[in-house]
Parts: sequence; C-alpha cells; structure tokens
Amino acid sequence: MEFRYKKIVFLTGAGISAESGVRTFRDTDGLWENHRVEDVASPQGFKRNPALVWKFYSLRRLQASEVQPNKAHVALADALHSLEQASVRALLITQNVDTLHERAFGALPNKNFIDIHGTLSRSRCTKCNKIFSDRWAYFNEEQQPAERHADHLWSNPSLTNLLSMPRRNPQGIPLSPCCSDLLRPDIVWFGERPHGVENAIEQLTSCDLFVSIGTSGNVYPAAGFAAVARKAGAHTVSINLEPTENSAAFHEHLHGLATEKVPDFLKKI
Ligand code: NAD
Repeated sequence: MEFRYKKIVFLTGAGISAESGVRTFRDTDGLWENHRVEDVASPQGFKRNPALVWKFYSLRRLQASEVQPNKAHVALADALHSLEQASVRALLITQNVDTLHERAFGALPNKNFIDIHGTLSRSRCTKCNKIFSDRWAYFNEEQQPAERHADHLWSNPSLTNLLSMPRRNPQGIPLSPCCSDLLRPDIVWFGERPHGVENAIEQLTSCDLFVSIGTSGNVYPAAGFAAVARKAGAHTVSINLEPTENSAAFHEHLHGLATEKVPDFLKKI
C-alpha cells in the first residue's frame, strides 16, 4: 500500500470513546460521578481522602472493562498496522485512560503509543514510583471494600509486574508490594506532568500529517500539539463533533461522529 505521508502523529481524546459509552469530560459539567474533579483527580485530593479516590477509580475500572472499542478505535488500529507494514512512521498519542486503543490494537508497541494521561490499567507506588499492571477494583458499586477483577481492562502484557491482589490497609486501600506504601492509580492528575511530552514534541516537529480526533482543545499540553506540528510544516486535520478551542491550528476540519469520520478519513491517506 502507498501512503502520501512519511510520518503521521494521531492525537485522541474522550470524543473517540464517546460512542463506546464512555462519557466525555464535557458531558459531566466538570463533575465525575458527582465528585468535584479536584477531589478525585488531584494529588491533594488523594492525600486528603485516598479511599474516596480508590472508590472512584475502582468504579471507572469496572465501567471501562464493560465497554468495547468502536469502529473509530478499530480503524485507527488497522491504519497503524498498515502504516507500520509500509514503513510509514506513525505515533498515537492518547489523552484517554480507558484502554480502548490498546484493546483495539492488541499488542501496541510502546514506540508507537503514548498514553500521556496514564491509564486505568496501571497503578504505582506512592513511595518509589514503581509501576504495576493492575486490573483490580478495590471497592464495589456500593463503595464497600471488594476484590473484583475488571477482566477486560487491558493490561500491557510487556509489564511483568502484574498485581495479584495486594495487601490492603484497614481502609481497604491497596499497598505496594515493593515498599508497603499506598498504591495510587497511574493516572496523570491535575497539576501533574503528563507522560512522554518530550518524545511527543520531538515527533510532532518532524511529522508531515497531524490528526486530532475527539478532543476539545482545552487541556494542555495536548491542546498545543496541533500548533507545534503546523509550525513544523505538517498538514493538520481535526475530526470532532464541533469546532474546538484550538480550531485555528488546523488546515482541515471534519465535523461529525468519530465512528463515521475516522474510518472515512483513514481510507484517504
Ligand atoms: P473533552 O471532553 O474536553 O472533549 C471531547 C470532545 O469530543 C468534544 O469537543 C466533543 O465535541 C467531542 N466529541 C464528543 N463525542 C464525539 C463523537 N462521537 N465523535 C467525535 N467527537 C466527539 O475531552 P478531552 O479533550 O479528551 O479532554 C478532557 C480530559 O478528560 C482529558 O484529559 C482526558 O484524559 C480525560 N477524559 C478521558 C476519558 C476517557 O479515557 N475516555 C473520558 C473523559 C475524560
């Protein structure tokens, strides 16, 4: 297969997973499951009430385990496979933590994938930062301590630190096997530094096509990626339901549902 481009960077946000049944941040009026974002998605919130944070993320793990990748995730995964075979360099950067890209792709090589906001399928030690592959829901829907496995939540097979049920403190919060200190979700919270930004910027400054899918252009640094790629000479395309905050950074705008627009667009590259 012949492609017009030599190096492509894709950026996805909550909109690509909306049709799988995962709510976008925009849908929630700044509240997640009726919690203020700063209570469940900030280091200060975790320090104040780690049990509340683990109740929230346990529920999110169970919800993510129940949804399926949609046509947009699958088309993107197929495109990444075809591009790789044709020796076109491609990188997928996602802001999503729902593991649906990984599940659509199968074994997505790390060199082609950056989850800049972390993922629901990992935890890390608050003391030494060791990362664990973790699919446990430590609390159930009734907010009681539980031992539920979010079976379909993707766990990267290349990670050997797969957690069997870890020890818990009296509040039911999991403790790390390495330091016996609190485990936290490996999610990038407000005020924390996203993963892999230097690598992302390096790829953005040398790509010739940048495609943004289902992201509102509100959350930095990802909201600035289109401008970086455009400045470096790339053709920039936005696929979204509606105009985004950073619309001016795009040469091309495709408004509509991700499950329709993404497969159509990918056929044309
Ligand atoms: P956002 O909620 O700010 O914006 C989503 C965008 O997607 C909106 O502009 C909306 O118009 C568009 N959209 C909604 N449904 C769509 C569809 N079917 N097809 C195409 N576009 C559609 O999300 P964001 O820009 O990703 O940033 C919010 C933050 O919240 C991110 O940090 C992200 O990590 C996090 N988040 C992640 C998930 C997830 O993992 N699925 C869900 C909610 C929030």
